[in-house]
Amino acid sequence: MKAEIIAVGSELLLGQITNTNAQFISARLAEIGVDVYYHTVIGDNPERLVDAIKIAEQRADVLLFTGGLGPTKDDLTKEAIARHLGIELDYDDAAIEHITDYFERQGRVMTPNNKKQALVFKNSTVLKNYTGMAPGMAYTNDENTYILMPGPPHEMKPMFEKEVIPYLLNLDERQEVIVSRVLNCFGIGEAELESRIESILETQTNPTVAPLASPKGVTLRLTAKATSVEEAFAHIAPVEADIRALIGEYIFGIDDETLFSKAVDLLQTSQLTIAAAESLTGGQFMSQLASITGASAVFGGGMVVYSIDQKVKQLGLNREALEQHGVVSEYCAAQMADAVRRQFASDIGIGLTGAAGPDSHDGQPAGTVWIGISYKGESHTYRLQLSGMRNTNRMRTTNFAYHYLIQ
Ligand code: ATP
Ligand code: MG
Repeated sequence: MKAEIIAVGSELLLGQITNTNAQFISARLAEIGVDVYYHTVIGDNPERLVDAIKIAEQRADVLLFTGGLGPTKDDLTKEAIARHLGIELDYDDAAIEHITDYFERQGRVMTPNNKKQALVFKNSTVLKNYTGMAPGMAYTNDENTYILMPGPPHEMKPMFEKEVIPYLLNLDERQEVIVSRVLNCFGIGEAELESRIESILETQTNPTVAPLASPKGVTLRLTAKATSVEEAFAHIAPVEADIRALIGEYIFGIDDETLFSKAVDLLQTSQLTIAAAESLTGGQFMSQLASITGASAVFGGGMVVYSIDQKVKQLGLNREALEQHGVVSEYCAAQMADAVRRQFASDIGIGLTGAAGPDSHDGQPAGTVWIGISYKGESHTYRLQLSGMRNTNRMRTTNFAYHYLIQ
């Protein structure tokens, strides 16, 4: 099966947004064995869209569109395709109900252009929108399959996962299921990881093992095919065990788990509370904590103490000792962690101090960071020497603090 991804939207051509939809869809299609041969980007113009479709129909079996399903005048993807294919549009009852509900819940009145979003191709499969209003649709004729999805990535992704993938697999009549397990790693670079598991990467075909690096860390996606979900996971299990035997100490979680969600989980199960005193991260550590559901059970509060004055005033640290050791120091991180733990009467205290860059700070080169963790009267300290830009260093400090916390 050959696929072409057609992203519709003038803002893409103007360089105002990046075509991340094509990137996401390509990566997921590769995993299920669908070959993507072309990416096309086209503005909000029906004639040029139809021109692009005519070309795509010649060189691909499946045409996947994103964008232009919304209520406004420039949203014309489905109207243009319907005209091109000579098919009619009809209101989908379930979609009308979904949109009406959406407006009622927000106490707003639905306008006629919003009802337009419930128009779908006659005899098509309606693709449910889990996070927005406009439904997508899938239509197959003798030559091609047309998949229409909304533009906003947070609407497109769940629709793609839950509606489009099953549709494509069904189309293929392969009668097989595809499952994946993602292993989330931290503290190891992509190159190092690849060389440590090289033998597995080279020999594995079911599951395939695909490394991917992002600022949050490296992930390994294991994807297996089989005739049932159980059987597919049975293919994954031994390979996952082999990988864990080689690099297990770097794997902190699976699938959607993050360093932050893992920390909240661990604190919850061990019934521990946490507080943080943040200097260079300016509240980022606590902000990540608050982003996780259930954080209130483990997190009461903390403070941002950026200046030396506030470190003394808010945390009661000793000014002379701070001046003697410097604020970018093991001493300072340990003191901050201990003081905030006591002030907030929590079980664990975190202290984050460092020179974010680009300039050196308090005599320490840019990227020097100290992390303090105070727990049960003991303090643990960690030194980092980071080499990124200012905000990368700040984000990495936060990530490392969570990494040490969950170890
Ligand atoms: P809406 O109902 O929000 O209007 P839509 O289906 O009509 O959705 P568009 O109007 O084309 O979609 O795009 C809406 C927004 O979705 C864009 O402003 C952009 O933020 C995002 N978006 C659209 N296409 C892409 C893409 N290819 N990659 C990443 N983001 C995109
Ligand atoms: Mg739109």
